[in-house]
Amino acid sequence: MLSALEQYDPQIFELLTQEKARQSGSIRMIASENYVSKAVMQATGSCLTNKYAEGYPGKRYYEGQQVTDLIETIAIDRAKKVFGADHANVQSYSGSVANVAAYSTLINPGDMIMGLSLVNGGHLTHGWKASFTSKVYNSVQYSVDPQTGLFDYGQIEEFAKKHRPKIIISGATAYPRQIDFEIFGEIAKRVGAYHVSDIAHISGLVVAGIHKSPVPYADIVSTTTHKTLRGPRGGMLLCKAEHAAAMDRAVFPGLQGGPHMHTVTAIAVALAEADTPEFVQYARQIVANAKRLGEKLMEHGFNLVSGGTDNHLLLIDLRNKGVAGKKFAKALDRARIVTNYNTVPGDTAPPFNPSGVRLGTPAVTTRGMKEPEMEMIAGFFKRVIEHIDDESVIEQVARESLLLCSRFPVPDHFIIPRDGSHGAGRD
Ligand SMILES: *Cc1c(COP(=O)(O)O)cnc(C)c1O
Repeated sequence: MLSALEQYDPQIFELLTQEKARQSGSIRMIASENYVSKAVMQATGSCLTNKYAEGYPGKRYYEGQQVTDLIETIAIDRAKKVFGADHANVQSYSGSVANVAAYSTLINPGDMIMGLSLVNGGHLTHGWKASFTSKVYNSVQYSVDPQTGLFDYGQIEEFAKKHRPKIIISGATAYPRQIDFEIFGEIAKRVGAYHVSDIAHISGLVVAGIHKSPVPYADIVSTTTHKTLRGPRGGMLLCKAEHAAAMDRAVFPGLQGGPHMHTVTAIAVALAEADTPEFVQYARQIVANAKRLGEKLMEHGFNLVSGGTDNHLLLIDLRNKGVAGKKFAKALDRARIVTNYNTVPGDTAPPFNPSGVRLGTPAVTTRGMKEPEMEMIAGFFKRVIEHIDDESVIEQVARESLLLCSRFPVPDHFIIPRDGSHGAGRD
């Protein structure tokens, strides 16, 4: 029987089929990507896509909210529980919008924000020059130490004292180590700034207790819901009670109209999944995989920024290899290993052709890969870099990658058991 999509729009159906094949037939190592569970996928594709729900539970601007109020309240309560936060807002359309809402809760246009620069691992919305955030706000940007690739908290404090920002942003898009959110909070206090922490990448690790949480030390915590947290594409904000009303107003009506209730629904499901021992085990394995992959890559002569990883991501510095990041990422893609090229600390190459490659383990870990598979993948990296101009070797690696993928099928039907039930079932 033809599905409705296949029947109505065969062209789009065919393209989706191709994408599904690509996702299952490649080793996906983009650090921000994952595979969601069947339950999350069902909630995302549910009838809530049909519903307008401007406002918040109990105070909406449209009728017919008998169900949406209940669902959003569940999502908020689960978010507060797993993160230990006073208040949560689950309506942000994405991590980028969540950040803008966080800033506009606390400061006015023209005030100063201080974030990690994009080329040092920060996000666009932390005040990078191409971002709206640097046009609305006066932005100053700190760096990591170009030698170690690590935060130098003393230097960050000096920088903050010099510029006196109204907000200091902690958190990153490409930082492979633990971040000391407590110190960021102290620095912010000392200079009279608010502390906004953006844990878009690591929120799954934070929920699992594997990375230190910024919740006690930040005025507002922002996150995406689709990276290590393994929920639908979306954003979420957590804050101290004193900012709750202002933060809700900043999201709606300040920045957004109707919330995407199908996404809010799927966030609720993902938060239930994250609140299980299975998820903690998953998060542990993400980090164990990243560590093993890093060790093996270093054995193969790759330099890693900061010499390793504490989390889900690795940054390879290719400057000792004489191969540009883009060239390597493209060769890996032909070998069915999907990464992204990335700047490395102290990079003098331009951002569109930088000297590094970023990779992460959340998606392959969801497929069930463990340390032995990480060793295999590190071996693929070695062969690709050593034979970067030899298409026959790259094709051979692609065949082996596909074989590995076939042993770890995409778990688009995996189910995380709820409390008390048994065993991580997969079909
Ligand atoms: C991914 C990311 C975001 C943006 O999330 P989108 O959902 O893509 O808008 C924000 N901050 C950080 C640190 C990120 O890594």
